[in-house]
Amino acid sequence: MTIADALLDGESVDIVIEGAAIASVTPHSPCTSDIDAHGLSVFPGLCNMHSHAPMTLFRGLGDDQPLDVWLNEYIWPAEQRLTDELVYRGTLQACREMLASGTTAFNDMYFRLPAMAQAVADSGIRARLGLNLFGDADELDTLDDVMRRCSDAGVNLSLAPHSIYTVSEKGLRRSAEACKELGLPMHIHMSETQKEVDDCLREHGCRPWEWLDRLGILDLLGPNIIAAHCLHLSDSEIRLIGDHRITCVHCPNSNLKLGSGYRFPMLELLDAGAHVALGTDGSASSNNLDMIEVMKTAALLQKGWRGDPTVVPAAQILSIAALGHTIAPGQPACLFLADVRSLSDLVYASHGDSVVMTVVDGKTVYNKQQTT
Ligand SMILES: [Zn+2]
Repeated sequence: MTIADALLDGESVDIVIEGAAIASVTPHSPCTSDIDAHGLSVFPGLCNMHSHAPMTLFRGLGDDQPLDVWLNEYIWPAEQRLTDELVYRGTLQACREMLASGTTAFNDMYFRLPAMAQAVADSGIRARLGLNLFGDADELDTLDDVMRRCSDAGVNLSLAPHSIYTVSEKGLRRSAEACKELGLPMHIHMSETQKEVDDCLREHGCRPWEWLDRLGILDLLGPNIIAAHCLHLSDSEIRLIGDHRITCVHCPNSNLKLGSGYRFPMLELLDAGAHVALGTDGSASSNNLDMIEVMKTAALLQKGWRGDPTVVPAAQILSIAALGHTIAPGQPACLFLADVRSLSDLVYASHGDSVVMTVVDGKTVYNKQQTT
């Protein structure tokens, strides 16, 4: 596939894609092409590293409530009524929204994974789906069946103990051991609220990351841990996270809406050696799955609470949102075309609806002209 005359860092380029990778990026010259991108800019596909895709079904449910009230009184009761069919439909809606706003891959946490995997396969997006675990992680008893049915749909898995306050010591240990045994990442909510930290201190006499460390989970899994939120961290927790090369996923719109906090220690985590990524969280708490909006909020928050407009410039937040991928030979052919003139326009002046076309693994999976 050839994409001709796309703007990349202010230059007009032609991009040749072979299979699932970018084969060449050269200055634009008259050529035959599959896609004429004149007037459009090209960017690497965004990776939504923390989501609960089927929650498109709950958009607007329990708005403006505290996290524990929102979970206990609205979300968890509604989730009791879900069926495979509803989870499939909610996930397909999420996949379509993500593709239409430049996201080419997402890292999720939910249940009824085979139904989700089918929606992922039908949409053409890339995904890693996390099996949500609660209490003593008895859901692990179903893991063989879930893995078989998801691998039939070609989707990757992780294990996702929900959090340290909903999963027991036994459940956390079992989850970590299963991750180690099967070579799967662990995806978990961590340090989302001050209440979580206070409760952990009262129950276990230590902070949340110190609790995982005491259980041996950080040494066991290290870089295979993906932790959403990580807002309320002590200096020693930041060192622990950095030393173990863990990925922390900032979900600023969800954190702001739920009043969880806004001082994500992005620079401190990076300095300590941790990886940082961005996510939307579920669309019941962020109300959309727009990673372009997330980039703007994340960058502005860093500038705002630090009182320093020079930190986290547009290029850095795009790199974080794209997990370091670029438009260059040898990179995955996961990219999108947007109706903007520059990176500045993308990050600071637009939203997901500026996206015109999205390509995943060399295949066009979203084309605005064909959907309007
Ligand atoms: Zn979440």
